[in-house]
Amino acid sequence: MDYEVCRYCGQSVMIENDPNDKRSNGEQAVMNCECEEATNYKERLARIRKAKKDIKRIFTDETDKVIEFLSKAVEMCIDSEFESIAAELDWKTKAKISCKSDGNIKIERTDTVKSNAEI
Ligand SMILES: [Zn+2]
Repeated sequence: MDYEVCRYCGQSVMIENDPNDKRSNGEQAVMNCECEEATNYKERLARIRKAKKDIKRIFTDETDKVIEFLSKAVEMCIDSEFESIAAELDWKTKAKISCKSDGNIKIERTDTVKSNAEI
């Protein structure tokens, strides 16, 4: 056991000296702090983690790079950097990430099946 200061409220918070924990002491202190800003920070991380899981599930056939890009897009949406972004992943698959008015983030996938002929 050790103590580390929360970077948001300045309180000393107990942290475990776990050598397997790759997070910095400061990060661990925030994760163990109950102040409002630390709570917001934890909620943001949890949303991003959940969004990444959803993206992997929804875009299961896409490459790691695409998953990474879409995950970053969700992160930026959560941080209100933009309202929405749409990407054409290939000729049939479109991805859209948008921030809804209730604050939720919507992750959409559209697959177009087209048949046509030119004579
Ligand atoms: Zn705090």
